[in-house]
Amino acid sequence: MKITAVETLVCHARMRNWVFVKVLTDQPGLFGWGEATLEWHTRSVVAAIEDLSSLLVGQDPTRIEHLWQTMYRRHFWHGHGIVRATAIAGVDLALWDILGKALGVPCSKLWGGPVRDHVRTYCHLGGGRMEDFYETAADDARRFADLAQQAVAEGFTAFKSMAVPPTMPLEGLKPIRAAERCVAAMREAVGDAVDIMVDCHARPSPAMGLQFAKALEPFGLYFLEEPCWPENVAGLARINAAVTTPIATGERVTHLAAFRDLLAAGACDVCQLDITHCGGLSEARRIAALCEAHRVALAPHNPQGPVSTAASLEFGFSQPSYVICETVHNDVPWRQDVVEEGFVVERAGRIVRPNERPGLGITINEAEVKKHPFEQEILQAVTYADGSVGDW
Ligand SMILES: [Mg+2]
Repeated sequence: MKITAVETLVCHARMRNWVFVKVLTDQPGLFGWGEATLEWHTRSVVAAIEDLSSLLVGQDPTRIEHLWQTMYRRHFWHGHGIVRATAIAGVDLALWDILGKALGVPCSKLWGGPVRDHVRTYCHLGGGRMEDFYETAADDARRFADLAQQAVAEGFTAFKSMAVPPTMPLEGLKPIRAAERCVAAMREAVGDAVDIMVDCHARPSPAMGLQFAKALEPFGLYFLEEPCWPENVAGLARINAAVTTPIATGERVTHLAAFRDLLAAGACDVCQLDITHCGGLSEARRIAALCEAHRVALAPHNPQGPVSTAASLEFGFSQPSYVICETVHNDVPWRQDVVEEGFVVERAGRIVRPNERPGLGITINEAEVKKHPFEQEILQAVTYADGSVGDW
């Protein structure tokens, strides 16, 4: 079997352009789907996949590890910058999809699964509507509580919020109290049986992240995400050691050695690797083995498109340490028109039963994709009160 072409299809989905990767083979009707969505870098990723394709066309698509090594190492520059790691991931997902289809089994079976009967999922407040998740003001505790109740009414047993406002490297008590009030309102609204997560989006400095972590500790968060920059390994480790709340990170970490450093330092109790940014399922499986050795939970970052979700779920059915999968369902109203999925989501509890179709189990409707051509992503920016640039 030989790869004959590597194509990309861009689908504008409001906040993001989904980048679908289609790897074609010389076997009639056999091709694989991957995804390489990277907000604000759509054109770069599409071009990076074009650069990689010269290494792939004519090769056997079932030699996945060999092709991964080829993509990662062959062009001298190792493929762990965010653009290359995402491009490699897009191709890698499609190769696993091809192998599953060629053998007639879901991808999780290729990795010894399924290891569980269902995968638990969680939503963003607002279900992926960007205004609800990113623009609810931290002084509007009531709105946080309303959105939390809405998530539970939709069947979710866990949800994530951005209840921590942007802060300069050092600020006083006001933002801490605001975050406290929002999380208190959500806990009051949904009770103790629902799991609440707070994403700091790596906005705080280690000093501010520690203050937020301490203030939110009494509310029993399921996890506190990115309380400082992921490249500040010592800062994360300091916060993780200081509170009982599990600290989560990993969505911007793109390769095995960087995860090794985080885990060795005790910087997190939850690994949020992103299968579409960390080099794909091939590298994700190595990272998962590292997590297993450290008894760190896996909870993949997955706010992108439908191929990312299918891959994150197949991964979940094969990994013992996997606890929950991030999902969005309200990002665009036509999400389900673009994809046919092999897995089944049960509304009560929002758990997912295994896909029984070969590969990743998905079909992308290319005619529907063409209705949503590339548009420049809307800029999301944080500017501090003094006019200086902050982290979004
Ligand atoms: Mg995050």
